[in-house]
Amino acid sequence: STQVQLVSRPRGWPTPEDFRTVSVELPALAPGQVRIRNEFLSVDPYMRGRMSAARSYVAPYAVGETMTGGAVGRVEESTSDDLPVGTLVVHDLGWRDVAQGDAAAFRAVAEVPGAPSSLHLGILGMTGLTAYVGLTAIAGLREGETVFVSGAAGAVGTAVGQIARLLGASTVIGSAGSAEKVALLEGKYGYDRALNYRDAPIREQLAQAAPDGIDVFFDNVGGDHLEAALAAFNDHGRAAICGAISQYNATGPVAGPDNLGNLVTRKLTLRGFIVGDHRELAGEFRERMTGWFADGRIAYDETVFEGIGNAVDAFLAMMRGANTGKMVVRL
Ligand code: NDP
Repeated sequence: STQVQLVSRPRGWPTPEDFRTVSVELPALAPGQVRIRNEFLSVDPYMRGRMSAARSYVAPYAVGETMTGGAVGRVEESTSDDLPVGTLVVHDLGWRDVAQGDAAAFRAVAEVPGAPSSLHLGILGMTGLTAYVGLTAIAGLREGETVFVSGAAGAVGTAVGQIARLLGASTVIGSAGSAEKVALLEGKYGYDRALNYRDAPIREQLAQAAPDGIDVFFDNVGGDHLEAALAAFNDHGRAAICGAISQYNATGPVAGPDNLGNLVTRKLTLRGFIVGDHRELAGEFRERMTGWFADGRIAYDETVFEGIGNAVDAFLAMMRGANTGKMVVRL
C-alpha cells in the first residue's frame, strides 16, 4: 500500500518536505476483515489543525503516522460477510491507495448512479452534513431569513447556500475569492448575491449587499468575515461558527480575539442580551433575591460619592475603577 505520512509539524504553510510517501507491505486478511481499493481521499481544512500539536477536537497527527481522514473505496478482498467484494465503503484511514482492517472500520454507502463516489466525501458526506447541522441545529434558520455564508464556493459553502434556500431562506449572500467563483455562486448555486472578498473590504461589500441586515451567518473563514457579519447582524441574529480558514496558517497573532478557534473546538455559544428584553423574569428575580437577602445569603459593596456636584466625578471614577461593587451618589 502506498501511504503518505506526516514527518514534521509545519509552521505556517505546510510544505512537501513535511510529508513522505512510503510503501507498506500488507499482511493477508484475518477473518472478518476487508481490503479496500480507495477511489477518492478527502483533503480537509481541519487536517491543517491536526498537523500541529495544539489541542483540538481531534487528536493531532503523530509525526511518522500515515495521514488519516475521509476516503471512499471499494472492497476488493473480503473475509467478512458484512462487506462482500464490490461494496462501496467510506472510512477514515485516509491517504493510502489500499486500506485494510476489520470490517467495522468501514461503512457501506449507496452507489450514486451517474455520479462519482467522491460525493460521499462532499455533498452527500461530511461537508454536506456540516452545512445541514450548522444551518438547522446550530443557527436555527427560519423561513424568510437572510443568510450570509463565507467560504461560499467551497465544499461546505456550496452546500450551505443550497440547503438554506431549500429551508426557506429569503435571501442568501455568499463570499468567495475569485470572479469565477462569484459567478458560479449566482449562476449555479442559487445565491442571490455573491461577493468577491478580494475586490474590496468584505465589511463594505456586505453592508451594501444586505441593506436590511443578515439574520444567520455561516462562517467558514473567520477574521474579516466575522467582523463583517457582526456589523451586519439584525437583532437576534445567529452564527454557526464552522471554521476560520483565514487563520489556519497564521504564524503570528491574528487581529481581534486571537483564540476564536475555541468557539469551534469547545462548541461554544456566545449570546448577547439586553436586560430590558427580559422583563418577564423581573418578578421571579425580585421574589428570589428578596428571600436570599432576608436570609443573609447576599453580600454587597457600595462606593458612595457625596452630592450631585460630584456626579460626574463619580461617573469618571467608576469608569477608572475607583468603585468596588455599585458606585452611587448620595444626595
Ligand atoms: P473549502 O472547500 O471551503 O476549501 C477551503 C476554501 O477556503 C478555499 O477554497 C478558499 O476559497 C477559502 N479560503 C482560504 N483562505 C482564505 C482566506 N484567507 N479568506 C477567505 N477564504 C479563504 O473547505 P471545506 O468546505 O472543507 O471547509 C470550510 C470550512 O469549514 C473550514 O473552515 C473548515 O475548517 C470548516 N469545517 C468545519 C467543520 C466542523 O465540524 N466545524 C467540518 C468541516 C469543515 P476562496 O477562493 O473563496 O478563498
